[in-house]
Amino acid sequence: MYTLGIDIGSTTSKCILLQDGERIVAKSLRVGGMGTAAPGQAVQDILDNTSLQSADIARTIVTGYGRKNYSEADGEVSELTCHALGGHFIFPDPRTVIDIGGQDAKVIVLNERGQMTNFVMNDKCAAGTGRFLDVMANILQMDINDFGAYAARSANPASISSTCTVFAESEVISQLANGAGREDVIAGICESVASRVAGLARRAGVRPEVCLSGGVARNDAVRKALERSLDVEIAVSPLAQYFGAIGAALYGWRHSSK
Ligand code: ADP
Repeated sequence: MYTLGIDIGSTTSKCILLQDGERIVAKSLRVGGMGTAAPGQAVQDILDNTSLQSADIARTIVTGYGRKNYSEADGEVSELTCHALGGHFIFPDPRTVIDIGGQDAKVIVLNERGQMTNFVMNDKCAAGTGRFLDVMANILQMDINDFGAYAARSANPASISSTCTVFAESEVISQLANGAGREDVIAGICESVASRVAGLARRAGVRPEVCLSGGVARNDAVRKALERSLDVEIAVSPLAQYFGAIGAALYGWRHSSK
């Protein structure tokens, strides 16, 4: 039985096709979130890549920021539930899932059965989210893909002390104007995001095993800075950005096999 999970985020739409709740058969990602054609395109990519028809999919569940505005699914489930399920699907015994997405960050604490026991979330402020990194990449006219590699070359990360994205933007510009190296400024930007997220994690009561979810997991400098700040190892999967979609597909399977 095939179940499809769709995660409609603020910046990207992700899909996962799951077979019998066990095997990931296909995945797709399109840039563009809520209010764009990206969710429909991501679903079409799955059908094209597998030569399946919509009728072959037993259940489709949608999650993410844009889930309420997507009418073609059989149901919608919260992001917290889906990221928890996704983390538990990929890692054997995660107790903390840290999700850093395009516009919010969540720290989800799980019990041994993978059920959520606590969470802390920042959805009010761009600092400590992918949005902060995207704004800075824009100022630096860089691809967000390259942030991790640049930061890794820094010997002396710049201190970005502003907690507000708008002030931090000016701070980055003046650091560069004063001759700070690009890699040091980028390392400082990544540390700033990590430090905000570490604050959330402490409030949630972080405990090992810890794993990352969301697109910012692709930025290794943020992961390393988080590890230093929390003094804990953080696991990251190449599928981290798909955890929400994996969780949605898994939810669909569990609820159709009952
Ligand atoms: P959403 O679900 O809100 O769209 P995602 O979990 O997909 O958010 O994460 C999007 C964020 O991930 C972007 O804001 C960006 O900062 C970050 N990101 C996306 N791709 C990359 C990449 N290749 N390298 C580093 N960071 C990335």
